[in-house]
Amino acid sequence: MKDDSPGLFGLPPRPRVVPVLVPMPAPTAYSYAVPEGMAAEPGSIVQVPLGPRQVIGVVWDGPDEGAVDPKKLRAVTKVFDCPPLDLNMRTFLDWVASYTLSPPGYVARMALRAPAAFDPEPMVEGFRFSGIEPEKLTPARRKVLDLAADGLSWTKSGLAHASGVSSSVIDGLVKQGVFETVFLPPPPLVAKPDPEYAESRLAGPQKEAADEILEGVRAGGFSVALIDGVTGSGKTEVYFEAIAETLRQGKQVLILLPEIALTANFLERFQDRFGAKPGEWHSDLATKTREKVWRQCATGDIRVVAGARSALFLPFEDLGLIVVDEEHDPAFKQEDRVFYNARDMAVVRARISGFPVVLVSATPSVESQVNCMNGRYRRIHLPTRFAGAALPDLHLIDMRRHPPERGGFLSPLLLKAVGKTVERNEQALLFLNRRGYAPLTLCRVCGHRFQCPQCSSWLVEHRFRGQIQCHQCGYAEPTPQACPECGTLDHLIACGPGVERIAEEVEKHFPDARTLVLSSDLGGVKRLRLELEAIANGEADIVIGTQLVAKGHNFPLMTLVGIVDADIGLANGDPRAAERTFQLLSQVTGRAGRTGRKSHGLLQTFQPMHPVMQAIVSGDAEAFYDREILERERAGLPPFGRLVSIIVSADNRIDAETHARQLRQAAPAEPGVAVLGPAEAPLALIRGRHRFRLLVHGRRTSDMQGFVRTMIANGPKERRSIQVQVDVDPQSF
Ligand code: ADP
Ligand code: ZN
Repeated sequence: MKDDSPGLFGLPPRPRVVPVLVPMPAPTAYSYAVPEGMAAEPGSIVQVPLGPRQVIGVVWDGPDEGAVDPKKLRAVTKVFDCPPLDLNMRTFLDWVASYTLSPPGYVARMALRAPAAFDPEPMVEGFRFSGIEPEKLTPARRKVLDLAADGLSWTKSGLAHASGVSSSVIDGLVKQGVFETVFLPPPPLVAKPDPEYAESRLAGPQKEAADEILEGVRAGGFSVALIDGVTGSGKTEVYFEAIAETLRQGKQVLILLPEIALTANFLERFQDRFGAKPGEWHSDLATKTREKVWRQCATGDIRVVAGARSALFLPFEDLGLIVVDEEHDPAFKQEDRVFYNARDMAVVRARISGFPVVLVSATPSVESQVNCMNGRYRRIHLPTRFAGAALPDLHLIDMRRHPPERGGFLSPLLLKAVGKTVERNEQALLFLNRRGYAPLTLCRVCGHRFQCPQCSSWLVEHRFRGQIQCHQCGYAEPTPQACPECGTLDHLIACGPGVERIAEEVEKHFPDARTLVLSSDLGGVKRLRLELEAIANGEADIVIGTQLVAKGHNFPLMTLVGIVDADIGLANGDPRAAERTFQLLSQVTGRAGRTGRKSHGLLQTFQPMHPVMQAIVSGDAEAFYDREILERERAGLPPFGRLVSIIVSADNRIDAETHARQLRQAAPAEPGVAVLGPAEAPLALIRGRHRFRLLVHGRRTSDMQGFVRTMIANGPKERRSIQVQVDVDPQSF
């Protein structure tokens, strides 16, 4: 209960106390006093003292319990002049914290990730016609006055540009008092997209698909649609219509994309349809831009954001639609601090606020397929490519029967196909999901293998850089000349291929072709963007790339895709391996033949009878998924059962294992829920930390969060040296 009246016996009034979430791993909000006259309401973004520092926090919901000793109570320092997080957003953040078993302060921090955005942007200087005529009317001055005579305000550069004069002309007019200075609100970062800018262009099945989705958008309220359509079927055009309709309703739109930094092509398509680019949100933005995007989402100046998973935590003023493109993509899962899947949390955000979600994929996740089967999501199917473009003709190369020549990795069949493609002046893509030159380096004399000093992984040779590197932690050292074990010089050999080594092989066979290696370690985002553009413009004949090239790009000349090692993802024993491999191979081969030319895909494999390989060449995705779904159901694996992975790590192996064991012993008895392990985690050592894993397996209806909470509460005391990471719905299991 609030009590602001002076107390009996003249005691000073008790100050108003509010809970504030600060960016700390605390289980609840902290209490702060609100100085008289300060407007701190739930959702207000505030600055508060925390220990010796000032931190940013957000006022949360909850009663003023006055639990803190008034003498120890500290006061809110400042309320920022920016829109507060609304009730839906606060409910969403609470939900995410409790579902992912994360400290609410960490989740709130994801919504406040633009520290300086909370103060209003400074006004900019502008000019307005004062009504005073200039002393001498030159032609240049006339141009300016013609534009500004109506008395509207301009920035100097805007006015100079629009009237085609130099800014010194404006300066002259200002000096004479013809223009007076005014202050203008800062210009929006991006122009407003216009739903009627270009006509929608939908053909045949696209129209029906769009109508079905529009039904949901017009009805308003929560609904989930899944657009399941082969690569190139025109899914993007279809969901653009849902975006247009939402814009007509005056609401904002969020588009989540797995590799936004590399999808310049997408931004251009959006601009062609809506006359303006969407706001971008990803980790490669400059801090200033990021702050602007955050603030302009909150004020409603930005209407559409295209972003990576963290864009889900932007404070939209009035969000009315989320599109999740490539919804199956593992990049939507964050595995750091707060472990969440942005696709799943997008559905939650929409349910809380009551608006539709559109999921999009050529190879939907098993989870989403099952949600369609049981009627929770509406499935919208686009089975053929737009305008009759054919999908590539896919064949397997059985590597046991068509082995490469000694020291090589490309079968003669694949090399021949590459040669023919280049002769036709078309493009070939060789795909290998492995960066560097070789995944393992050995000494030929003593057999020494190069291992990362702080991880349980082998060092990968990167020949372009002259280094051996750890792909877990980034550790790198110059490639040694001599074996550190036996000292023999120049006897180190590379085992297995990476993209750099494939490029070497290609150059040997096709010395005159223009080859390009595309790999995230060979350049920053800027360079990669340029390279992707170069490929689209036909400036390369043979592209060798990692999964960077797989996602969403349109390469008009690409007619051959060769998969160097189609089996690569199948070996790791993860029950999701088949699904992932199927998705990745479909997506990569889908890069070919998008503009109607006849195209091919060749997949090098040692397991041609594997169900994934058979599904890829037969094109029968449905049969593959049916089988996959049945197997998951039999084993009680997600989405038919539930999993939580708990990783305990410590500098000392015994500490980690002991803690994990004690945690397991603290598990409550609950029918249908079992704890497996502890066992060494799939990566048993990372950055010098030993890792053990417990896997909690339950029924679809089990209260997994409650179970794990009890386990942790009853388990061994927290210790600084021991870290416990909880991952609800882990990616691999
Ligand atoms: P997806 O998203 O399913 O991979 P896209 O939406 O990228 O497919 O469409 C594939 C290609 O077909 C693109 O180049 C796109 O511009 C073109 N396209 C799709 N629908 C139409 C249409 N109705 N009219 C003209 N071009 C279209
Ligand atoms: Zn390492």
